Amino acid sequence: MRLTVLGCYGPYPAAGQNCSGYLLQDDEVNVLLDCGNGVLSRLRYFCQPWELTAVILSHLHSDHLSDLMILRYALQMQEEQHASALPLQVYAPPQPEEEYNRLTYKQYLQSRPLSAGTALSFGSMRFTFIKGVHGVPNYVITVTARGKKIVYSGDTEFFPGLTAAAQGADLFLCEANYLKSDLQQGKVNHLAAFQAAAVAKEAEVKRLVLTHHNPERDPRLALAEAQAIFPDTELAHAGSLYYL
Ligand SMILES: [Zn+2]
Repeated sequence: MRLTVLGCYGPYPAAGQNCSGYLLQDDEVNVLLDCGNGVLSRLRYFCQPWELTAVILSHLHSDHLSDLMILRYALQMQEEQHASALPLQVYAPPQPEEEYNRLTYKQYLQSRPLSAGTALSFGSMRFTFIKGVHGVPNYVITVTARGKKIVYSGDTEFFPGLTAAAQGADLFLCEANYLKSDLQQGKVNHLAAFQAAAVAKEAEVKRLVLTHHNPERDPRLALAEAQAIFPDTELAHAGSLYYL
């Protein structure tokens, strides 16, 4: 299986960067996790929109889905040449309903609701989901294939179930939009870098990749905060490839 980072900033990009998008490939299967702004142009280096097997959205915030509204035009314009690719299946939490209802688009995109019990298989890749803690429903996504395991946090604040989900992962792709100093009690938080690292350590993951970088801050601050706890931490970069 191969994971490609297509965008790793949120909730809006730094100059020349993109918001969330990650491509998983195995044999002829191409699954896109999240489709934030700027993802489509970078996706095209690796896979064409009509070659996607499915899209899975961790949650329905615009920095994780906005390029779907553009990707649908590519499917529409290429309908004659690539009719067998239609409709592209888009799996997402069904709330907020208003956002979910925008995902189905004519005969080009078909939305499918995710829940904590959902299990999906595409080729050798198997996907399972647990609910995170965020302003809107968010699913932490576990992908297994050929004895390897990738866990992607989506957007979430810390919750104990995250450690169980990440247990033994070969690669833990975890948001760290916050530093310790950003956390505010009683508010909706993102994970701070030290929390991502603490989960990685307790879950005994092999490699922690921090993502969802804050566009107004040097990502190396998050890296340093995490590495103090879990040395095998690195930063996601658009275009990075991970082979598992
Ligand atoms: Zn979000």
